[in-house]
Amino acid sequence: MSFLNFMSKFVDKKTACSIFGHKIVTVRNVTGHFKEYKCTVCQVELTNDLQDRKTFLTPELKKINETLLNHYTRKRLSSM
Ligand SMILES: [Zn+2]
Repeated sequence: MSFLNFMSKFVDKKTACSIFGHKIVTVRNVTGHFKEYKCTVCQVELTNDLQDRKTFLTPELKKINETLLNHYTRKRLSSM
């Protein structure tokens, strides 16, 4: 059992993250610049902004990423 799992028995997952930091994995590559991330501990979703800072993935941002992804995929397909 990892230390984090051990700790999560005593503190809730969000608290664990605020102490140890999120355990971030990349979920989706939106474009070369925009990615979607997720914390494997508390499941919070993040994305990066134009300044390359990580920010919470709000429904609005998710919609923007969705649009970008569609646009990007279409562009990539049409250039083949
Ligand atoms: Zn977290």
